[in-house]
Amino acid sequence: MSRSEDLFERAQLFIPGGVNSPVRAFKSVGGTPVFFQSAKGSIMTDVDGIDYIDYIGSWGPMILGHCHPPVVNALKKSINNTTSFGAPTEIETDVAQLICEMVPAVEKVRMVNSGTEACMSAIRLARGYTDREKFIKLEGCYHGHADQFLIKAGSGAATFGEPDSSGVTRGTAKDTLIAPYNDLLAVKQLIEANPNEIAAIILEPVAGNMGCIPPVKGFLEGLRVLCDTHRIVLIFDEVMCGFRIAKGGATELYGVMPDLVAMGKIIGGGMPVGAFGGKREIMAMLAPEGPVYQAGTLSGNPIAMNCGLTLLKELNATPNIYIELEKKGAYLEKGIREVFDNHELTYALNRVGSMLSFHMGVTQVTNFNDACSADSEFFKKIFHGVLKRGIYFAPSAFETLFVSITHSYSLLDRTIHAIDESLKELRVF
Ligand SMILES: *Cc1c(COP(=O)(O)O)cnc(C)c1O
Repeated sequence: MSRSEDLFERAQLFIPGGVNSPVRAFKSVGGTPVFFQSAKGSIMTDVDGIDYIDYIGSWGPMILGHCHPPVVNALKKSINNTTSFGAPTEIETDVAQLICEMVPAVEKVRMVNSGTEACMSAIRLARGYTDREKFIKLEGCYHGHADQFLIKAGSGAATFGEPDSSGVTRGTAKDTLIAPYNDLLAVKQLIEANPNEIAAIILEPVAGNMGCIPPVKGFLEGLRVLCDTHRIVLIFDEVMCGFRIAKGGATELYGVMPDLVAMGKIIGGGMPVGAFGGKREIMAMLAPEGPVYQAGTLSGNPIAMNCGLTLLKELNATPNIYIELEKKGAYLEKGIREVFDNHELTYALNRVGSMLSFHMGVTQVTNFNDACSADSEFFKKIFHGVLKRGIYFAPSAFETLFVSITHSYSLLDRTIHAIDESLKELRVF
């Protein structure tokens, strides 16, 4: 019995399902989840001492690799000053100012502790600002686990085939209107069917929770026009793609300005941090300035802020990082395509910079339906094939792979080779 198996048995006695976030449990790919003990760069080491090339990167934050020395040093330094004051600190303004400089759509920003909090607070703010109750969510986009978002929510929820969580009231669900991703006409029809009732449209401008799905040409622009016409708050949930596809996220990459942006993951450098920000006029509605309440005991925690600030500063000061991430992403894409083509497989591969996913048995994936019609059994086999060859992909066909700056070309080659070997092995049967 491996130590991971041992630990998983014990974990299940005291933690529901043995994990603190469902996708970690390997339910959708089968087998026992791997328990980890340490990581450096893009290599994670499990409790049995086995190394893996990491394509999760803590779902984003490890964009410069695990234990990035400046981040480790910043943490060591700040830990001596206390772990939390629960009172204002200078570093909170440093972080806020830097975010406003980096993300074009953000003029003011409020820190929270997770992406979930960022998204749910952004919706509350949009409702307060417009004095309307409904909002539009795009199918397959994930915005955290707040009640109003657990409706056609992609990855974790989709993996378990129950996009509507039990425990969410019908009253809550009725205010969440759903349109397919990349379908401007469907969004327009929803708005017309609910005149003056829609507070916000929230979406991942590059979807990352049903695999990676970029916006089709004109989609973001079209949403912007609809929001302007109907006085709707446009919210980009950049918890995953923010600071990853460009230092200013989707706003910078596609040139479309949302009214609010939700942030998370990379922003904390691996500490529990989220944030939401946007137009000054809208942000002024937040307590204590305005009537929309929002708060957090550990929000803007000094250790977390030091960690995030160090990472963001480096991302801001080194444009080369994004050029390099694009190159590495393109290299991995090319390698995987060659392997799949050699094996004469049907697949769709989407990539935006260092976010990449492949769906088997389909030729194109532009929305949640497409992602669902892919062959997830085949993905499972590839997942386990590469896992035993020391490659750690996200344990679900609905997730994205993340490349970091520490993925050397030889590690990328090893990954491509492992996919090839896994497919050869599958052919033997
Ligand atoms: C991860 C994620 C969230 C939720 O963030 P948590 O920190 O897990 O609460 C929200 N939106 C998107 C796009 C995400 O990828």
